[in-house]
Formats: sequence, structure tokens, C-alpha cells
Amino acid sequence: MNKKYDVVIVGGGMVGASLAVALKDSGKSIAIIEAFSWQGQRQPSFDDRSIALSYGSKKILEGMDLWPLLKDRCEPIKTIHISDRGSFGATRLYHHEEQVEALGYVIENRVMGEVLQAQLQALKQVDILMPATVEEIQESAEEVTLSISQHGERTELTTSLLIAADGAMSKVRSMAGISHHKSDYQQSAIIANISTEKFHNSVAFERFTETGPLAFLPMTEHRVSVVWTIRREDEAELMQLTDEAFLQKLQQRFGFRLGRLQKTGSRNVYPLALTEAEQLVKERLVVIGNAAHGLHPVSGQGFNLALRDVALLAEKIQKEGIEQPSLWLADYAALRQKDMQRVFRFTDSLVKIFSNSFMPLAHARAAGLMMVDCLPSLRHLLAKQSMGLTGKMSRLMRGISLR
Ligand SMILES: Cc1cc2nc3c(=O)[nH]c(=O)nc-3n(C[C@H](O)[C@H](O)[C@H](O)COP(=O)(O)OP(=O)(O)OC[C@H]3O[C@@H](n4cnc5c(N)ncnc54)[C@H](O)[C@@H]3O)c2cc1C
Repeated sequence: MNKKYDVVIVGGGMVGASLAVALKDSGKSIAIIEAFSWQGQRQPSFDDRSIALSYGSKKILEGMDLWPLLKDRCEPIKTIHISDRGSFGATRLYHHEEQVEALGYVIENRVMGEVLQAQLQALKQVDILMPATVEEIQESAEEVTLSISQHGERTELTTSLLIAADGAMSKVRSMAGISHHKSDYQQSAIIANISTEKFHNSVAFERFTETGPLAFLPMTEHRVSVVWTIRREDEAELMQLTDEAFLQKLQQRFGFRLGRLQKTGSRNVYPLALTEAEQLVKERLVVIGNAAHGLHPVSGQGFNLALRDVALLAEKIQKEGIEQPSLWLADYAALRQKDMQRVFRFTDSLVKIFSNSFMPLAHARAAGLMMVDCLPSLRHLLAKQSMGLTGKMSRLMRGISLR
């Protein structure tokens, strides 16, 4: 049977699931098509990572009525300490200087997943097809038809608006003929949750080293979430180390600001690349999240940027409707492009400037960090970027509900 939905979201990960929740009061019928069961160990989006949610993302989550469900399950970031290994340059960003209760919040992807999933399962207008994949799409001026494979069977559905939220390797993006650029950083990120001797005091540490940035994010239960960027060629060796040897190497890199690193949870590794879809929209298609922009995790911008895709898209769908999306899609794409390009420039230059041991550059960045530390206006600019408070603000970005 060919079922019709107002909106079909392919990819029920962090971003696709967030969009479906953001549309809960839109009156639209929605289908989510997700390849991996939310409960399964192989679910690639709600995995062992943690996300540093910016202050701007908190506002969006407030507007989506999700914040009350999340706030007690995340750890605030009150100070960000940025330093450069091997030099004296360092700067600190403080929540009180920005007059906010926290610069950001750290939440485990799994916890975010639990909250999003509980919301979606309670919504009558949302059908969740899982595990299921899209095999084919056919676009026309009036609708998009999708051929879905689920439990070995093929079904068809149609929609007025198709959303590709199926991650950096998006199949929908390529089936729609949208090409993408990929620039491999030749780096990988190892993530692990670690217990430390000293309490983190809600401080997030971003330490730049010659092999790439190293972040220690404050977590609940006296833990920190470590994102360690390494050269791709060092990946196998570091992943094979015993926990003890791994902690020793990490301690050498990070130092003793949090005392001795005591215990580590399981390690996972992610290859790092910058990916960018050449188009964000077609006649009845929108590409969001990692399918639109895959970023280096330095300064934790990827999901925060994607939540701004979600905020604006949900507002447009609710206000302008889906009968003739061509009336507003170009405007949506132009606004999102601006934000995306700004974040690309910010993260890409951080990676390139700080992953470099070329001496004059090393001196310049040490001087730069000290300068930022001494100039409140520069610190404020850096804090605004980290807090996701730049560019045009949609309703949800101001914490205003779409109801
Ligand atoms: C190490 C690391 C640390 C990070 N830290 C931060 C941080 O601190 N702050 C931050 O803002 N961002 C961070 N990010 C970025 C963040 O993880 C991503 O922006 C976010 O996960 C993107 O979510 P997504 O839903 O777009 O894509 P994904 O997480 O890739 O999810 C895609 C979903 O689509 C499904 N899918 C894929 N193909 C198909 C198909 N053909 N059919 C149906 N379903 C499909 C997948 O199963 C998955 O559920 C980090 C990233 C990494 C790698």
C-alpha cells in the first residue's frame, strides 16, 4: 500500500529525531526511516560520544520543550580553558563574563537519544520505520515517492517534503544527485569517558597539540568526556594499548590539571573529514545535519550547527507549509549557507593553525591566545562563536516555542 506523509525524514539519528520532535505541534504527518534500531548496539548516532551543547542549542531545546527533560542529565560548562601544549599561551572564557549560567552543557548521545525517542514514540502523527532503508527515490513537482526496504520487503510511500538526515555518507543526497566535497584531515578522534583524581569543577579544557586538539569535557558522575585528535597513522597503535598504557599516554598529552587520570571506559575512534553538500535544497528535498555538513569535532560545533538547521526548517515548515516549498526553500538555504560557511571557516582554521608545529606559527598562536586572554572584547567574540550566538536568530533559537 502506498502511504502518504506530509514530511518523511530519512535518518532517525541525533538530527533527524530532533527535527521530528521540533515539528510536534505542526499538525504534519511524519515518517522517520532509520536503518539501525534505536535499541541496538550498532546504532551509530546515539553511541558512546558526548555532545557539548552550546548555550544557543539550550535555547532551541527550551523552545522544543525538551530542556526540562535534559537539564538534570547534563553537566554545565562554566569555564572554557584553551591552551597550547608546549607554550605558555592560554585563555579562559567565563560564564559570568557572558552573563549566562553556563557557556554550554555536556550530554551523552545515548541520553539525548533516550529523551528524543520517548518523545517520538508518544506522538500519534509520527510513524517510525526501523530498521528500514530507502532504496530509491523519484522526485516530481508535486511529491517525492520513496521505495523502502523493511524486513526484506519493499513498500512505497510518498511525501510532500523529503528530509535527508542520514549522516555524512547520505544515500538520499546521492540518490537525489547532489554531490558533496570531502576534505580528509588525515586525523582521527578517539573518544573515551574517563574518571579523574580531581573534580573538573565544570571546566572544559581544549588543549591544542601538534597532532591535533585534545578536549576534556566535564560530565556527570565525576567523569570527563575525552575527544583526542590524533594522526591517522597513530590510530591502530593507540587503540590497541591496554587501558593503563592508554591513560599514561593521554596523561603525557594533557598534563596534571585534573590530577591523575584513573579509569577509562571503552574507546571508540572516528575518522575526521570536512564534508559539504553542494546543495542544501531541491524542489521537495532538504539536506540537514551531517548529510549537509560534516565537521571536525574541535570546539564541538557539528550538532549545534545542525540544531540550527532544525530550528529554522521546523519554523519554515510550520509557518509557510509544504504545499509549495519552493516559495521558501531558497531563503532557508541562503540563511543556512551563511551560518555553515561561518562555522566551516572557524573550525577549519582552528584545526589548521593549531595542528601545526611550524615554529613561527607556534609562537604566533601562543601570542594570539595571550592576546585573547588580555582583551575582553576578543574573548567575548570567541565566547559568542562557541555559544552558537552568531547570525540571524530563528524563533526556536530565541527559545520561543513554535506553538
Ligand atoms: C568524536 C566526535 C565528537 C563530537 N562532538 C561534538 C560536540 O561536542 N558538539 C557538537 O555539536 N557536535 C559534535 N560532534 C558532531 C555530532 O556528533 C554530529 O553533528 C551529529 O552526530 C550529526 O548527527 P546526524 O543525525 O546528522 O548524523 P548521524 O549521527 O550520522 O546519524 C545519521 C542517522 O541516519 C541513519 N542512516 C544512515 N544511512 C541511512 C539510510 N540509508 N537509511 C536510513 N537511515 C540511515 C543512521 O543509522 C543514523 O541513525 C562530534 C562528532 C564526533 C565524530
